[in-house]
Amino acid sequence: MTHRTSIPTVPTVARSRDELQRARAALTVGDVAVVMTMGALHDGHAALIRTARAAARHVIVTIFLNPLQFAPTEDLSRYPRTFDSDIEICSAAGVDIVFAPTPDVVYPDGDPGVTVSAGPLGAVLEGHSRAGHFDGVLTVVGKLLHLTGADRAYYGQKDAQQLLLIRRMARDLDFPVEVVAVPTVREADGLAMSSRNTYLTAFDRETALCLSRALRAGAAVAAEGPSAVRRAARSVFVEEPLAQVDYLVLVHPETLEDVPECHRGEALLAVAAKVGTTRLIDKHDPAAITVGQCPNGNASERADDDRHGDDERLL
Ligand code: AMP
Repeated sequence: MTHRTSIPTVPTVARSRDELQRARAALTVGDVAVVMTMGALHDGHAALIRTARAAARHVIVTIFLNPLQFAPTEDLSRYPRTFDSDIEICSAAGVDIVFAPTPDVVYPDGDPGVTVSAGPLGAVLEGHSRAGHFDGVLTVVGKLLHLTGADRAYYGQKDAQQLLLIRRMARDLDFPVEVVAVPTVREADGLAMSSRNTYLTAFDRETALCLSRALRAGAAVAAEGPSAVRRAARSVFVEEPLAQVDYLVLVHPETLEDVPECHRGEALLAVAAKVGTTRLIDKHDPAAITVGQCPNGNASERADDDRHGDDERLL
């Protein structure tokens, strides 16, 4: 069923569990969607909210900087905080409730003794570079799903591995929620919107365009097969040495394993790179890359020839 899309309302701001439960109890009619964020909202978040708003009767937005998913060396303390403008965006998008707790509300006993394990899919790519990150993400996602009692939850495709893991958690642990993916929203020049883009200097921002450029270059030759995709994407970074690539991979969207040369079907082209002091990630929407010519029927050929370096997953 389609619901009203953007009737400005002032959302109820809940800081405590009690406030959330009271506001949630008032949403008696119709289904409830949740959009989970770390704040510093931009048009990408707004797209999630609008998509949720169009499908569900009520929308809850959570704004929570989850310490459990940040390593001590990461940017938790400098992460941008823009609460007033976040509320304006939520008002304009017709959000019913904004749940904005502090860590002691979410974790009243301190660090939880029991957490969700993301398993093997959480140990590769982002998880390889950010040990424990996805355990922290899934733990808070599980808690926020319980606390909000949402029927549907909306996540961005930009964070492809996070989306995959949340889907897996919902399936593997029988969370009664529908997980919905929303396409990446980009700036006019192709840069994927991210709260972390505010860290970029004007110079860094120019450099950062190489992430989306590399993904487009790879996608443009998808019909030629995985090696061509990898070569095309990699060549963009060869010409942009100021971006330090962490990984640049063409993987199966469900297993996150490198796709073999004769792979047919969707593949995920994903990149993480440091530009200046900022670590950025991006990916090409999987439906857009449908690689696979199998001229010699060699299904087992792997991407190893295209791999450079031991630690870094640069194609
Ligand atoms: P964050 O606040 O960065 O944790 O993101 C909260 C949600 O917004 C996640 O589901 C992200 O995948 C999603 N998101 C972040 N940036 C974008 C974007 N540019 N387009 C669409 N969704 C996004």
